[in-house]
Amino acid sequence: MARRVAWWVAVDDVPRASVVAFTFTEKAAEEMKFRIRRHIQGVTPPGETMTLGGMYVGTLHSFCLKALRDLKPEVYHNFDVLAEGGRLALVQRGYHGILGLSGFQAALGSGQYAAMEDFLEAYDLLNEYGEADVRLPKGRAPQNSKGEAEWCKEAVLKTNVGKGAVPEAFAVCAARYYAYLRCRRFLDFSTCQAELLTLLRREPTLVERVRERVTHLVVDEVQDINPVQYAIIRSILGERGRLTAVGDHRQAIFHWRGGRVDLMSDLYDELKGSADGEVIELSNNFRSTPRIIAVANGWARTIGGVRSMTSPDMEHGRKGRVDRHPTHVAAPAFPDRQREAGWIAEKINALVRPDNGTGALHDGQDGNRGLTYSDIAVLIRSTTDARTYMTALSALGIPAVVRAGPDLFSQPEVLLFLGLLARMAGVDQFFGARHNSLPQRIQTVLGCPPTPEAVIQAAAASLRQSGLLMTAAVEKRLLLATALSQARMQGQRVDREKLNPLRNPKLVEWLRGAGSTRRVFPQALYQLLLAEAEVGNWESGSARGATAMFHLGQLSSLVTGIETPGWTDPSDFKYQIIALCMWGAANARTEEAPLLVAPDAVTISTIHSAKGLEFPVVFLADVNNRRFPSGWATRARSVPFDGPILRRIDPRHLVDNANYDYERRLMYVALTRSERYLFVTCSGTKRRSPFWDTVRSEIGQAGGATSQPPQDVPSGLTFLKSVHRRDVRLVTSFSDLRYYLECPHDFYLRKVLGFSPTIDQAFGYGRGVHNLMREVHSRPEEWATLADDPKALAARVQELIERGLFYLRYTTGEPLERMQNKAKEIVSDYVRLYSDELAKLKFEPELEFETLIEQEQTLVSGAIDVVRLDDPPRVTILDFKSGEAESDAAVRLAEDEMRLQISLYGVAAKRELEYQPDRGLVRYLAETDPQRREVEVALDDRALAQAVNTVTTAAGRIRERKFQVGPQRPPRNQQHANRCPECDFLEFCGLNEAQAYRASRVTSRRLPRPHSTA
Ligand code: SF4
Repeated sequence: MARRVAWWVAVDDVPRASVVAFTFTEKAAEEMKFRIRRHIQGVTPPGETMTLGGMYVGTLHSFCLKALRDLKPEVYHNFDVLAEGGRLALVQRGYHGILGLSGFQAALGSGQYAAMEDFLEAYDLLNEYGEADVRLPKGRAPQNSKGEAEWCKEAVLKTNVGKGAVPEAFAVCAARYYAYLRCRRFLDFSTCQAELLTLLRREPTLVERVRERVTHLVVDEVQDINPVQYAIIRSILGERGRLTAVGDHRQAIFHWRGGRVDLMSDLYDELKGSADGEVIELSNNFRSTPRIIAVANGWARTIGGVRSMTSPDMEHGRKGRVDRHPTHVAAPAFPDRQREAGWIAEKINALVRPDNGTGALHDGQDGNRGLTYSDIAVLIRSTTDARTYMTALSALGIPAVVRAGPDLFSQPEVLLFLGLLARMAGVDQFFGARHNSLPQRIQTVLGCPPTPEAVIQAAAASLRQSGLLMTAAVEKRLLLATALSQARMQGQRVDREKLNPLRNPKLVEWLRGAGSTRRVFPQALYQLLLAEAEVGNWESGSARGATAMFHLGQLSSLVTGIETPGWTDPSDFKYQIIALCMWGAANARTEEAPLLVAPDAVTISTIHSAKGLEFPVVFLADVNNRRFPSGWATRARSVPFDGPILRRIDPRHLVDNANYDYERRLMYVALTRSERYLFVTCSGTKRRSPFWDTVRSEIGQAGGATSQPPQDVPSGLTFLKSVHRRDVRLVTSFSDLRYYLECPHDFYLRKVLGFSPTIDQAFGYGRGVHNLMREVHSRPEEWATLADDPKALAARVQELIERGLFYLRYTTGEPLERMQNKAKEIVSDYVRLYSDELAKLKFEPELEFETLIEQEQTLVSGAIDVVRLDDPPRVTILDFKSGEAESDAAVRLAEDEMRLQISLYGVAAKRELEYQPDRGLVRYLAETDPQRREVEVALDDRALAQAVNTVTTAAGRIRERKFQVGPQRPPRNQQHANRCPECDFLEFCGLNEAQAYRASRVTSRRLPRPHSTA
């Protein structure tokens, strides 16, 4: 695909902006961008540009959001995508009121969570099949919660989903949910795609605009596309567009969420039968050794065909990647799961030896190297027993992370904090009867009743047992803190005496507050609990501590997810926590955004979540009866529809067939994740899985080990110095790099572990101001004419605010009004101040870019606020600082950082946008002192080279995982000794600098010392 794109661009002269490449995940998109550049370089004469320019490479749903914003900025520019956890919190919040889901629940006769789950699944199906059609009430969606309920109740689902109590109740809820998203300026993943298709169907002029721009399309993983994606692709292509689609029907594994392999088959037949179409078989496998390829080929023959599509065998394509010993591909069986898990742990210990810094040999891009933990994956069909594997690894001190799948909620550290948050919120008991509900997980992992208090105590005991610092005193304080927090949230005054044992001053300060609590910030509360639990101590060295922190970082992302829908009052908080528990126990996947640097730990993952990834070593575990193939695979799915729609959304497409072809495809995907070492394992003495005998036989036929005793597998290992894989690309942004430059450990907590900063009420202020500035620079002449008419100017800004361009989700009432007035004032001042410039010059607002720093193979992305077209290609880069104290507190840049930022933009403008930027101007919008309103940054060759050099050095250090380093920059506030007191993560950071600051604070306030028994 990358080669095809490079050819179009470099040889056929197709403008870069006319090319769109769809990938299945953001991670795949990153890889594709690097490859396209490399291939463009390969076919371009030296010295010519190898940039991607305005080419879009990314997922289809991100494309949809971008297209909606481009085509209808007045509606969608301020819309965000709402991820899974957030949308469940939103649904939970509106369950009884706005959404009327209790009616749907009554019609179904089910429990609350089942009703929510069934509703969202069916709502997504409508969108995935391009069937959703909602008529919204007239007028703009309300901007505050007051008018929401009335507005949403008037929405109508026009799609005929059938007659009867269930379809009719569903129709009411679906229309209201869609309207509710609109009120909150959100699109969820499925709505985002359906929305673009609806727009393109309704407005032919917009389709023409898209087709004029996009003429060449590539689509990866076409076997998993769903009907709405297929319709979008066809709509973009029209009669004249060029399409290259790549797929393998043997890897179609997302049928249960609308993926339709028959769409690939339609495309296959169409291209095969058309005069200018062509089907090319790509049979080279560049990932695996010949033996692994032979096993996968043998297995593929058991998968049923899809109409006329062929299934060519893969051929070995990578010369150096050869098999070194028969036991490197093996299929040992064990009497029980414990022994299976124990064997896997032992073998990981045999493959990686941190004690002497070596690992078993693997061949990479830069030659041979020794393996590290992050080269190893334990893949499982379902996460039901993931904990067994995790525990076995942990017993041998092997760091492991559950990178995806609901097992995140089976980690004692995650259960501890869920228990604490639940207790804070006033939840008495966790509910749920399904096999993967939170009570079930609590029973399996902790063996205690599903009440927050019992969970806290049992999880704390489990953590103590695993060697983490969790003293009885800390546990007692946590119980106290959560009980007092609950009282505080209910508006009760907390007795000061009772606060004495607590250690964290911020928590104490919050609890000391008087009066009713109007709103809570869940991420802030979570971090106060992390602080009181002293998790900073877990960071120091042990593998168990590192994985616990990783899991807590993932939980932090999920907490931010539930906070996304907006303003939280104490009663919302309770429902948010219930939603988090219910959703997370069944689904908790971390956000799809890939981590910048993988933690040095073994990955335990479901096969679905490992799609698109590859590992030198794969243990495919738990190939047991009813686990793989899953006992649920062929079970009929019920949908709340009736009548003709069932011919279009056929529930049979959502489940497996009698040959278990989808499960077989899943096995094929699992086998082909491995590069060199592949171990397929099962356990139990009763009935074997039907898949086990076949896969074992394929391994035997390919020359792998099936009869050797497990202790002899793997043999014939050669050891080399352990080196992390270097071919992992770094895809980052200026803001991420800035965190590293300021404090490498901050970057580690934020970008490697996934901790989110807390949200404050001014969140979104800066973006709102930038939205207004974008509007100003999109129609500069028009705005210049308003400069001398203060009334008209203010009215114009007010109109933009009412259109939703300045939308703050986390504030209301007086603070919102204050921030709106401030925004109005600074935008009006700006127009008056720069009216001459606006009248005479042209601008390009919000220019997104990605530029490659070759030396470290680092792709840096960003968006330039405005490019002022002085005399193109000579331009000036404008950057605005919005100047709201509350929102700017954590993002204020020192002068040298600001210069670095503008210089990087300069590099991008020169390389990617082919401009000649002379200088940058940083404009401080709220500044009243004329001398300090604008700072000029020279963008000469020296400044640009220096910026590239700084980024290269930082990227190199990130690759080398230099994260145990504290603040590198002077404090913003001169009274501080270093940056720690100004840091988002001060309260639970484990580095010495942070610990020292916290200890000094304890001393000065005479609070209990860490781990005191008080
Ligand atoms: S608290 Fe200090 S050491 Fe820790 S991440 Fe923040 S700045 Fe770095």
